[in-house]
Amino acid sequence: MKQERSWTEIDLDAYRHNVSQIKEFIPDYMGWMQIVKADAYGHGAYRIAREALALGAEMLGVANAEEGMLLRHQGIVAPILILSPSLPSEIPRIIQHNLTPSVSGIPFATALDAAAPKPWPVHLNIDTGMGRSGMSLAETKTFGKAMKQLENIEVEGIFSHFAASENDPDFSTLQVIRFREALDALNIAARYYHMANSSGTINALPPWTNLVRLGLLTYGIYTDPSLKEDVSLKPVMRFKSRISQIKYARPQDSIGYNRTYRASRHMRYGILPVGYADGYDYLLSNKGFVQVGTALCPVIGKISMDMIAIDLENNDEVTTGDEVILLGAEEALRAESITSLYNGSPYELVCQIGRRARRFYFLDGQQIDSSPLMRRDFVPSDFSDNKLTSIIETAIEQRIQSKEIASMIYEDVLKQFFVNKDRNVSYRHNFMHRITFSSPKAFHAEHYYLAETSLEFDKVLKHPYFIVACANSESVLERYFMRDDVEYRWLLDGNIQLSPEFFEVPLVTVNGISLTTRSSIVDGCLEIKCSHPQLENFIGTSVHFAISTRTLYPRESHQLSVYLIDITRGATISFQHLATNAAVEAVPFFAGRSKFPQSIAIDHGYRVQSARDEWIFPTSGVVFVY
Ligand SMILES: *Cc1c(COP(=O)(O)O)cnc(C)c1O
Repeated sequence: MKQERSWTEIDLDAYRHNVSQIKEFIPDYMGWMQIVKADAYGHGAYRIAREALALGAEMLGVANAEEGMLLRHQGIVAPILILSPSLPSEIPRIIQHNLTPSVSGIPFATALDAAAPKPWPVHLNIDTGMGRSGMSLAETKTFGKAMKQLENIEVEGIFSHFAASENDPDFSTLQVIRFREALDALNIAARYYHMANSSGTINALPPWTNLVRLGLLTYGIYTDPSLKEDVSLKPVMRFKSRISQIKYARPQDSIGYNRTYRASRHMRYGILPVGYADGYDYLLSNKGFVQVGTALCPVIGKISMDMIAIDLENNDEVTTGDEVILLGAEEALRAESITSLYNGSPYELVCQIGRRARRFYFLDGQQIDSSPLMRRDFVPSDFSDNKLTSIIETAIEQRIQSKEIASMIYEDVLKQFFVNKDRNVSYRHNFMHRITFSSPKAFHAEHYYLAETSLEFDKVLKHPYFIVACANSESVLERYFMRDDVEYRWLLDGNIQLSPEFFEVPLVTVNGISLTTRSSIVDGCLEIKCSHPQLENFIGTSVHFAISTRTLYPRESHQLSVYLIDITRGATISFQHLATNAAVEAVPFFAGRSKFPQSIAIDHGYRVQSARDEWIFPTSGVVFVY
């Protein structure tokens, strides 16, 4: 945090505390849904979702399909309900990412029914007085009838939303009555009935519902001061910055745009490097307070886009670089206190604040994680913007935990693939690798198996030749990793002589044309150059490669690893051990959409395969153990 101009701290201990406080109001038979829309009200949807699920949340609530998709990309598999009405154009995304839409009318239900591959779970939304989304009471009867025709729609839940549960109990009661009437008119049984948002859970929870939807209160923000008597909540978000400059003014000097602040004395004041573009509301001009050390300092002058000025009267010790709290902790700096200064909404403030700031997550008082500066997450179909570059790099680096490998993968593969406009990337496609072990006829049978491999894939041809490389050591083979003219690498046991006799390439074809092979040993590597005059004609087009090899593999090794070092689309890797009846196991490690490809037992072996069009990133592979 030392080098940040401003940052948000997300206190997951406070979040846990708030959830446990609110749970006191939820009977055992009811489940809860954590609302993580708008990036969890600015707290970071992914982290909050994980924390909520660990605390027993049954479901997550988002605003739209894109928010749901992001969570899916980040590996969240729990049910996700889309609270706002979806557009028919979002249906493919809903299906692809296994999201649960809410349904407010017949047209959307009909479109979903037609598109869904199986009965699709939905939650029906009833408007009982919010006057926003949801079907009106008058429509419920017709809707109930229409639903009976839609066999591909499974009504998993029926819900409504309170308009003023924090402070209007009479209206909440009326909404509950209307909701019951709507349920009667619909005449559809569902697994979940839900009405209460977080303040409704405290104030107006109908006991016959069985799910609550928790939002603002879990983030430690009171929707009404009266709730303080019922629950004690701690703010989860703190927004901080530091003093970037100390200034002095004389009486009558003005500070900021339009000269709205005039110094009445000789004064010392500070400049903070945040403004309304960072989400610090413009309406806090001449009204807000920030905390420096233990003192509250008033905001003076108009808030600019990127800067604010604060009065440092009686704070003589304060210097540049000192930390300043703009939101969080102290009562006066709670979101609801700050927004009360300008009659604003705490929901809005937390959604917007820290938009340009890195987020740091704390648990048990320790910093456990941070999320990047730009509030955009990692969605492959989104990679058109060069600004995303650093985010991709950081994401990979964290995932792989090696800066070097991450930057290699990033520079050589992902950047070309997703960012560069020309998309000049070569990847393998329909990758199929079969490996068979059997007993060799020759004398070395007691120490070695005969290993026969057959590799096939499609790829754009770059050169009129390519190389098959075989070496006795990994360090020698590594030289051949990122070369675009090398299509196959094999690591030969150290005790086997490096010669074409022990590593044969009986067949190499491109588009069915048999290539000429020429072997030579170059700096400790057996290079087999495969070429044909006709290959010139195929350069730049996708061709079908087939390469077969025969070699020896040490018996006592008991395992064989197959790595994918190119970006690959659709892979099948099989291993058969015909020389013994020993049990074979396959341990795949795929980096792609799914880490666990299908493993299918075959005679004396295993076949591991991904879906046909699935992208698999380098560093994936399978270890076969025998
Ligand atoms: C946002 C939202 C909630 C959460 O409300 P809070 O007041 O933040 O607890 C619950 N239900 C629906 C339908 C929502 O849109």
